[in-house]
Amino acid sequence: MTKTSKKAATPNELLRALPSVDALLKTNTARGLVDEVGLAKLTSLARTVTAGLRRELIKDSSRSAGDDGLKGQLLIEAEQRLGALHSLQRAGGVRRVINATGVVLHTNLGRAPLSEAARHAMLEAAGYCSLEYDTVTGERGLRGARAEQLLVDLTGAEAALIVNNCAAAALLVLSTFASGGETIVSRGELVEIGGDFRVPDVMAQSGTRMVEVGTTNRTSLSDYQKGINDSTRVIMRVHTSNYRIVGFTKTPSLSELADLAHTSKLWLYEDAGSGALIDLGDHGIEGEPVIRKSIEDGADLVTFSGDKLMSGPQAGLIVGRRDLIERMRQNPMYRALRADKLRLAVLEATLESYSRGDSLPALFMMSSTADQIASRARTFVERLTQSTRGTLMFDFIEEQSAVGGGAAPMSPLPTLLIAIKHPLRSSDEVAARLRSGTPPVIARVLDDRVTLDLRTVSTTEERELEKLILDLLQ
Ligand SMILES: *Cc1c(COP(=O)(O)O)cnc(C)c1O
Repeated sequence: MTKTSKKAATPNELLRALPSVDALLKTNTARGLVDEVGLAKLTSLARTVTAGLRRELIKDSSRSAGDDGLKGQLLIEAEQRLGALHSLQRAGGVRRVINATGVVLHTNLGRAPLSEAARHAMLEAAGYCSLEYDTVTGERGLRGARAEQLLVDLTGAEAALIVNNCAAAALLVLSTFASGGETIVSRGELVEIGGDFRVPDVMAQSGTRMVEVGTTNRTSLSDYQKGINDSTRVIMRVHTSNYRIVGFTKTPSLSELADLAHTSKLWLYEDAGSGALIDLGDHGIEGEPVIRKSIEDGADLVTFSGDKLMSGPQAGLIVGRRDLIERMRQNPMYRALRADKLRLAVLEATLESYSRGDSLPALFMMSSTADQIASRARTFVERLTQSTRGTLMFDFIEEQSAVGGGAAPMSPLPTLLIAIKHPLRSSDEVAARLRSGTPPVIARVLDDRVTLDLRTVSTTEERELEKLILDLLQ
């Protein structure tokens, strides 16, 4: 501390040096934000900043006044805080990110990325659209009719119904057919799927009494049989999705369960969850129930998600017997769970891709081979090494990507990760810097290294990603 220039400021001096809201609104940061944020909101942010600063100054009077520079100093500080506060608030919203985690159906990052056709359909439907209007007759049409027809064609079921997500679908099925009665389920299927979907909780909420049969690893047909009584309404089969029981296991086939249900005058309901519309064996995905097969095997109703393996929008899809579907359509709960125009537009476009036999972005990502990813990764690193002139270090790690979204936990997706090493910053700092980019880049930190998996980065995003990595050097 130099004697001549610094002395502690008195509380009054400090408060007088506090920038006014007006002064703060005239700074470059504020001017740069006003168009995006709006003056009213920006003024409110500026008030929050100056009020916070005032409180701190009253509490902490140890600040020195400097060379009469306190006022300027505080203004700079307030300006920085204004920018930071805005960034923080904006970061809480839904924004595009680059998913470099290699988790294809990353629930926290919006699960399946949509196809070009689906994005286009969503934009088209954003204005007025024929949501419930029949343009041929000029009369009221049926919401979702086209998507329902496509689901019928693709699954072989008699009818279909669309709600907001698979959890809503399960709730609607059980409330309509098992409320006030009993539903039988194997103890091996009482799973929790990410995001708080728990089979026992959904049963309780829908007003059915859950009757557990068998054991965690083995349940036989006779266990189900013994669970049946006069109050039984439904036999439920739950696909364990993100969880597998291996080893000494046993469970009746779906067709055996269908025979038992039907001779006992009960409904067989399968919650297939991950929702493969086609056999994904060619895409390296094993052990996922194909909806058409479940219908063939005799399930009366099957529910599945739209944004997992189906690679479409968040939606709950119900297919099965026509009379049962119509009873659900009449249930007032359906009105509360029905899908909106944007979801339906995206769903139609996605299902049309299946009808044509086109691939979809998430399925394409899952089926990329380790060699294909490795070749992209090497080219990417070559370019980066040139443009960073060796200041950032890159390395390769053989690892696994993941399907995610609570599907196919046993399907290995070998990949080649790019590890980034910064000469000065820790891996956590590098990951945080990548997240603060526009758009944010979400990376995986593995053994104290920041890694990027190009499996979930589209080729059209590579240039952008390259630029965001270069920004790490600033
Ligand atoms: C994922 C899943 C759900 C929940 O689906 P959401 O569409 O996320 O609501 C329900 N049941 C099963 C078996 C699942 O795998």
